[in-house]
Formats: sequence, structure tokens, C-alpha cells
Amino acid sequence: LQEPYATEPILLEEAFELTARSKKQTEALLAFVQIYKTQKHVRKQDLYKMAGVDSSVLKALEKKSIFELYDREVSRVATYEDILVEKFELTNHQKTAIAELKEKFTKKNTVLLHGVTGSGKTRVYIELIEEAIKKGEQVLYLLPEIALTTQIVARLQKIFGNDIAVYHSRMSNNERVDLWKSVLENKPIILGARSALFLPFKNLKLIIVDEEHDTSFKQYDPAPRYHARDSAIFLAHLHQAKTLLGTATPALETYQNTQEGKYGLVEMKQRFGGIQLPEVVIVNVADEMKRKKMSSHFTSVLLEELVAALGRGEQAILFQNRRGYAPTLRCTTCGWVRECKNCDVSMTYHKQFNNMRCHYCGYQQKIPEECPACGDRNLTIKGFGTEKIEDELKIYIPEAKIARMDYDTVRTKYAHAQIINDFEEKRIDVLVGTQMVTKGLDFDNVGVVGVLSADQLMSFPDFRSSERGFQLMTQVSGRAGRKKKRGKVIIQAFNVAHPVLGEVLQNDFHRFFEREIEERKLFSYPPFQRLIKITLKHKDPRLLNEGTKIYAKFVKERLGFRMIGPAVPGIPRVRGSFLLEIFLKMEKDPKWLAYAKALLIEARHQLQKTKGFSGIRVNVDVDPS
Ligand SMILES: [Zn+2]
Ligand SMILES: [Zn+2]
Repeated sequence: LQEPYATEPILLEEAFELTARSKKQTEALLAFVQIYKTQKHVRKQDLYKMAGVDSSVLKALEKKSIFELYDREVSRVATYEDILVEKFELTNHQKTAIAELKEKFTKKNTVLLHGVTGSGKTRVYIELIEEAIKKGEQVLYLLPEIALTTQIVARLQKIFGNDIAVYHSRMSNNERVDLWKSVLENKPIILGARSALFLPFKNLKLIIVDEEHDTSFKQYDPAPRYHARDSAIFLAHLHQAKTLLGTATPALETYQNTQEGKYGLVEMKQRFGGIQLPEVVIVNVADEMKRKKMSSHFTSVLLEELVAALGRGEQAILFQNRRGYAPTLRCTTCGWVRECKNCDVSMTYHKQFNNMRCHYCGYQQKIPEECPACGDRNLTIKGFGTEKIEDELKIYIPEAKIARMDYDTVRTKYAHAQIINDFEEKRIDVLVGTQMVTKGLDFDNVGVVGVLSADQLMSFPDFRSSERGFQLMTQVSGRAGRKKKRGKVIIQAFNVAHPVLGEVLQNDFHRFFEREIEERKLFSYPPFQRLIKITLKHKDPRLLNEGTKIYAKFVKERLGFRMIGPAVPGIPRVRGSFLLEIFLKMEKDPKWLAYAKALLIEARHQLQKTKGFSGIRVNVDVDPS
């Protein structure tokens, strides 16, 4: 199939219009659709036989940009790739998990399926979906980001065909109306991102929240601010449906709920097909620097493993959670740093676009030839992003085919699918990427995964940074592993003693959970208390300061020690507005929360009534992520 059909087979329906005038072409296309449901590659012979056509018809369809004709060696042994797209038999572990899930659902409305990466959770979902639709029930399958999960979308479409409808943000209004109607008419399966929660379900009985830990389930901007996982559970409650949360790295809140007995818990500890979890190696960057063994940002261990893997014909993934070339441009003479004119952050150097960009507001500027402050030409860059890694890897391993997957390379509609496809078809040896490479991808030939800077992942000034670091590193590690061979993960870090690294090394979620939950308890963070973040914004810093004092005084008089702040946040100015933050740590008692809610509405009202301060914007975010 040619694009766009290869990525979105559902579009084939439109292709029939192109063949409407030729009966033979229509026949061939019909036959193709039939076979394509179960096979990724359709043989010409099969089409000749089924549709009674000859090669000229297929060539005509190639000319119409529908088919792609190619030769392929046919092996009698099914490849791993084919197994993945087909509905393979359930393993014993999966059968056990399904039985346990059903049992748990008789007692709980929400159950967490905690399965290690590669345990075949999707296969379990498929089984439950099939059983539900046999009974005429509707199923909602939520994914963090549709555009970044094309692999899983394609797989489900292949299995469920017309029973499935995909709801995503790039649909036209007409498509939305059609989908809305089909949901009303009891469409069996809806696959979508968080906004799919608002569709008019008729007979919803099961909601699957896949990768439930993913932060993109939380909508922050624009309002309404909501968490799709929590909303899904509430929606299920309204429909008397069940909610299945699935992940290899549960959110702390979710796991705590299983420990408190609110949710059921089913675990899958084995990888599908008996493949072992990857071996994790932690490399001390400071030590390699001292011994002068580093090549730019690569430790000798990582480079050696990369070269060895490529030599064996394997592929590799390198993970650096920062896009662009380098996050800082600095004058070595006077210390000047290029900052955004709208936000108090340094601008990132993008070699690809030959400019500096602000990742908060999108503001762009040319690269200065000399320091605007002192006129010297000693400008250097500090830090590194995906672009620099891609660039330098080309120097150290010139024979490798390298590609990059981040926000900058997947802007066009099919770019993301194209990169994944190229990687699957082994036209790429090394894939360098941001957290996009951690999301729901299955590859069968990845020998090595490298994490360039673990420190950067664990050092955000945020109470969730350990959790996020554990999740990202575990998820990206899960991409390593070959059909029958164990994969290897190389993690580079300065702070090798960080407890999260040990937990990733042992793939020990339980130890991570026990340690982290104690800390949350100690410092009264979620899930033990509700954390409410109030952000006040205005373009005039003095006015903001005065207004915030009034607001804070009102709240403090009523909530006392529960209020922290106001304080200047890590980035004090974004998009031209100055920010101040106030935090509330509230008991999880619904009465207190209702009181706080009414109080905050009143506080905002008071502020806006006060002369001169009506322009201050107040945002409230509960349990910020
Ligand atoms: Zn200077
Ligand atoms: Zn900016």
C-alpha cells in the first residue's frame, strides 16, 4: 500500500471512489482488503486468484497511488513482526491474567493491570474487548496520544476492522459529526485520546486506560483542567462500567489505590515469548571524564556497545529528553546568556533551523555573531539536546544510518509513522529521540538502548521527578530486546548513587514504590494530601505582587498552615506575563476540599473586586503533574 493508506488503512474506503469506473480494479481492491485484514503483506498470486485479475490491473492500481508492488522473500517461518500484527494465541500467563482480571472485576470497578514491558498487555485487552462486543457492549480504549501510538492503532484496526472508530484531534468537523453519530448508534469500540471521554456513549461497559501513568492524560492548558484517568473512572461509574488501567510503570497514586483496596490489582511479571528483561548497566560519567575516556557526551561503554550491536546487525535507540542542539548559548568573557524576551528562560540553539528558539512561547531569534553585551566573539554552547547527539554520533560511528524522533522532526502528518516504519524496516540503525521513543513502540531488533543523561531526568525541582525518572527510564529500557535475545540498556549518570537508578537497574517497581511513598507521606504530598497549585499572572510585576498579597492574605486567614507561599516559580516569566505561585496542602476529606473550592472562588472574587487588580489571572490546578 502507498501512503496514506499504509498508515491509515481505514482510508481505503475512499480509494474505492478512485476505482469506481473499473470493475476489475474494484474487485482487486476488495480482495486486497479481505486478505489485508489478516496479513501485512498481500501476495500477487492471491489477488489474481481471488479477484480473477491479472498483473495489468495491479499495475493500474499502482499508478493510481494505491498499491505498492514489490518483491519479498517468503519465509515459511512467520517473522516476529507478523506475530505482532496478528492475533497470536494467548500464553498461559496471559490466560491467567485474564481470569484474574475477571475475578477482580466482580469485586472492584477499577482494576490495575501491572505488566512488565513486553508482557503482552495489548493481547489481554483484545481478549476482553472481544468478549465485551460479543455481548453488544461498547468499549472505550484511551491512549495518551493518538499521533504517537500509530503502531497500536494500526494493530487494533487490523483486528477489529469496522467495529473500531478512531477519534483524534486532526479530524475534520464532518468526520467528527460522523463519529459522534456512530457512537450514538452503538459503535462497539472507540479508540481515542482523552477528549474521547466526552462522546455520547449508549452502552459503555468497559474503559481501558492504556499507559495510565502517562502525563499527557492530564490536560492543563487550556481549561478544563482534568485528568483523563480519574475522569474515565468517573465516567465508568455513571455508566456502571468497569475501568481497566494498564501500564508497566503505574502512577504512584494508582498503585497506592490498589494497596488501600480501592482498586483491584493483577500483575504480569513475565515477558511475552520468554524473552528476558534487558540487562541494565549504569556508567559513571564523572569517572570516565576523569580518566579522559569520554567522546563528547558518549561514554566509552556506550560507544563500544553501540558499535558491537551494529556489528551484529542489531539496532539501537538513544534517549535524551531535550530537543534542539544545545539549551544555552553563553559568552565566555562576560557570562551573557541568550534569554527569551517573553520568558525568563534561556533560548535553545537549533542547528536544523539555524536559530535560537524559546520552548515556552515559540519565540525565535537569529544566532548572534558576537556577544550583545561585551562584543566578544567567545560564544559557546552549554548542555546538549537530541540534535547534537545525532550530529556527533555521525562523527563517532560514520557508517551508521541515524535518524531523530522529536517534536521538531514529526511536525508533518506522516513524519512520525514514516520514522517508525523506516526503523521497523531496518532503514535506520540508530534512532535518537526524546520521550517520544518511550511511548508504546514495539521493535524486534533493538540490541542496545542508551540513556544519555539520567541526571537530567531525575533533577527537576518537582515532587514527581523521581517518579517521572523511574517511569521514563523503565519505559525506554523496555524497548530493548530481540526476538530471542536479551537486550542491553546503558544509562549514563553523574549521580550514580541516586536510589532511582538502583531501582531501574533491578527493574524493581515495588522497592521504588515503598521508598517513594514514604517520602510523599513524610512531606504531605499526593496521594496522601491534595496539592493545589494557584498561579497568579500579570504583565506588571508590581501590580501582580500587590494583588497576590491581597489574595494570599484572604486565603491564609482561613486556611492557615495549609497555605505555602506566595513564591516566585522556577520560571518567573512566561509569554510576557510574570507569575507567582501559592500552594495548598489539603486533607483528602471531601468537606475540606469543598470548603477550599468555595474559598478560592471567593478569594478570586475579592481580588477582582478590588480596584486595579481585575486584570490578574488566577489558575487553579489540583494535584499538578
Ligand atoms: Zn560577553
Ligand atoms: Zn519565550
